[in-house]
Amino acid sequence: MRGLTISAMEPAVIPLKSPAPRDPRKAERERAKLNKRLRRLVGQAIADYGMIEEGDRVMVCLSGGKDSYTLLDILRQLQRKAPVRFELVAVHLDQKQPGYDPTILPRYLEAEGMPFLILEQDTYSVVKRVVPAGKTMCGLCSRLRRGALYACAEREGFTKIALGHHADDILETFFLNLFFHGRMAAMPPKLRSDDGKHIVIRPLAYCRERDIARYAAERGFPILPCHLCGSQEGLERQVVKRMLAEWDRRHPGRVENILRALGEVRPSQLLDRRLFDFGALRAFSAAPPDAAAWLGGSADRA
Ligand code: SF4
Repeated sequence: MRGLTISAMEPAVIPLKSPAPRDPRKAERERAKLNKRLRRLVGQAIADYGMIEEGDRVMVCLSGGKDSYTLLDILRQLQRKAPVRFELVAVHLDQKQPGYDPTILPRYLEAEGMPFLILEQDTYSVVKRVVPAGKTMCGLCSRLRRGALYACAEREGFTKIALGHHADDILETFFLNLFFHGRMAAMPPKLRSDDGKHIVIRPLAYCRERDIARYAAERGFPILPCHLCGSQEGLERQVVKRMLAEWDRRHPGRVENILRALGEVRPSQLLDRRLFDFGALRAFSAAPPDAAAWLGGSADRA
């Protein structure tokens, strides 16, 4: 399946800034340490959530951003030593954005000897037509992209769909839901798609974005910008991103603690009656008075 285009202006690649020159041996040690940390965290997430099983055909969604390149790279490293055998195929969707260079990804993947598929679908025109000028297009764009990728997974028989969302994405989503939608929900590391046909996994769930950015810069991935369309993140997400960056700067460890807390939920210490049966709680053997009794008599007093 190597180098297959299924169904495109000026070349556009963002060279990630290389870190400043350092002592080469020290730099090499740091690189190896970072690589090892990312490998360990990805391996841990895969094991914790049962993300990859024997015989899986894993479709790695490669947008051309730092996150998806890193995901693919680390998964390939783990594949060589994993206790189970699984297949990896990189899948990229050419959304027909202005300025997109269709040669960059195939060139990289061929040089890496990586099996891949390139899908073509003009989601850009659809988004431009539907979303009013000045509004962020990312919501609809992501939904259309998801549709195209799910359809490909079904057609090609992939058993898992791997996405490059990382710990910062998970936390941003958590705070967006908390601050602006009044619910406690983040981004799950593993989920079944709404139509029940696909299992989506996020092996970078434990990895911080700053580590991924550093790794991508060190590895020199040929990054494709995700703003060729001119769209920008919503204001609310920018607010949350700034808040997390500020916490990282002023309170080291806080963000990691919150991430850990998402895996340490105590339903009995929260207020959600669907998760914990507070009504069934009994002291000794006495039954609690019902609502009518609390209201001072019969239930129809109200
Ligand atoms: S920045 Fe552009 S390409 Fe990226 S998700 Fe948003 S609308 Fe889509």
